[in-house]
Amino acid sequence: MEINYLFSWLKIRKSKPESRTSPRTLTLLQSLLQDLKSKGKPYNFVGSSHSYNGIQLVDDNVAVIFDSNDLKNIAYNYDTQEVTVEAAVTIEELKRFLQPLGRQLISSGNFMQQRVVGALVTGTHGYGVEDVIMADSITAVTLLDEDGCPHTLTEQEHGNVLKYVRVSLGYLGVIVSLTLRTKKNEQFEVTQQIFQLSQLPQTLAQYGNKAHAMTMFPYSDKADPFIGFISLDKLDQYKEPAPVNRANAFVTAISWVIITFVWKLNAQLPIFQEFLQMLIGRFAPSVEPEVIVTSPDDLDYLYDYHPMLESERNPSIPQRILSSTYTAYNVAVFIPKADLPDLLLFLFELAQKMKQANPQQYFKNSIGVRYVGQSQKCAMAGNYKQDSYAVDLFFSKTDLELAEQVQDKVAQKFKIRPHWGKTILKPEVIQNINLDDLKEFSNLRAKYNPSNLLQPNLGGIKF
Ligand SMILES: Cc1cc2nc3c(=O)[nH]c(=O)nc-3n(C[C@H](O)[C@H](O)[C@H](O)COP(=O)(O)OP(=O)(O)OC[C@H]3O[C@@H](n4cnc5c(N)ncnc54)[C@H](O)[C@@H]3O)c2cc1C
Repeated sequence: MEINYLFSWLKIRKSKPESRTSPRTLTLLQSLLQDLKSKGKPYNFVGSSHSYNGIQLVDDNVAVIFDSNDLKNIAYNYDTQEVTVEAAVTIEELKRFLQPLGRQLISSGNFMQQRVVGALVTGTHGYGVEDVIMADSITAVTLLDEDGCPHTLTEQEHGNVLKYVRVSLGYLGVIVSLTLRTKKNEQFEVTQQIFQLSQLPQTLAQYGNKAHAMTMFPYSDKADPFIGFISLDKLDQYKEPAPVNRANAFVTAISWVIITFVWKLNAQLPIFQEFLQMLIGRFAPSVEPEVIVTSPDDLDYLYDYHPMLESERNPSIPQRILSSTYTAYNVAVFIPKADLPDLLLFLFELAQKMKQANPQQYFKNSIGVRYVGQSQKCAMAGNYKQDSYAVDLFFSKTDLELAEQVQDKVAQKFKIRPHWGKTILKPEVIQNINLDDLKEFSNLRAKYNPSNLLQPNLGGIKF
């Protein structure tokens, strides 16, 4: 018998849905919802199935998947400078559509294959000061309730409801279209530096109110680990960007052989991660701060500063080796800004204890930290009305249990809030969300989905 599983990114989590369907038109989607309701069948929605925590994976549900070439319309409004997308449009498609118009998304995560809707409803973010949660830039949403009835909610007329629908976890209803503000293509000056954890407070005093992100290498020094730090300054006038390293088939092929070899070593030998990070610690003191000018045509605009996408250039061997995107399981949480130095110290000590307790246990990679400011527009986002950092921890694909233990330890000591696509979801993770907001969210759920058949995987969380 064929087993028809649905997988998350890197096949780390899986579910066995009762069936799967990809609606081709709005009318078919509406009939599907009516049919599911009349038969009393539970269901949930799936975008690109990239959420690490499996919020999109439910056994025995009908999986309604937006992965086809339908529901792909994109329209730009020159008067308002807003863009409207349907449910199956990916972030890459949207960025490529906007780029020739000289426009960009206000913020973006660092991967492009997610559906815009899928990414927005879980609170996907980049880093920066304002409107960093991608859903902050939503000005209108069309949502279907369980009867397939459309409800168009706009910022102007329904601001108080939209606040809950922007990051709605696939729990309020299916979003068939979204309208987003855009911005002019921008250039930045990026300052990159590497220093030790003990110097973090003074660096934050200097750069802490700008857009900034960092990676801590917990095994780079036994007493005081190194942190790679980048901060952005927006440029008002065009400046010549850093030179481009355009893809060359031979260089790309050789680079990938080396990268894949190192990844394999890293997967087979846990101690290899410590060795890589020790090398960073060894060479970091001789690395001078560097300033790079980004290209206005950059589509990644997160860690790569050159035109177009990272995949269109020769891969950077050190960057790929140290990137966990293709190799590791990611658990992320939001924490209040003021807690960051304590949290990093805590994680550094935990990293040492973990491997002492069991020589196979390592954080799989650096610890990623992105400043996300505070959201005023997304009531369910982790940084709602709280100046915050998003902290990413990486684990071996087989270490889900360790990941959960670490998340629990962090939650015991710090007031974490969830990233709805990355935090391991369980009832405790919502305790730091304002009660009135949870209640309002639950009321909307009762309004749009009273029969309770729409069921994303919320790990036992009840609203
Ligand atoms: C390699 C990689 C890099 C990432 N980088 C970042 C990053 O930089 N920053 C960050 O914040 N996150 C990041 N993430 C997390 C990712 O952005 C989120 O988990 C995102 O939700 C995945 O989008 P998706 O389209 O795959 O949605 P899915 O995982 O398929 O679904 C997510 C949720 O959306 C709901 N949903 C999907 N479509 C609809 C719809 N039409 N209507 C209503 N609900 C719907 C689903 O029910 C589910 O609850 C990354 C993930 C990966 C795998």
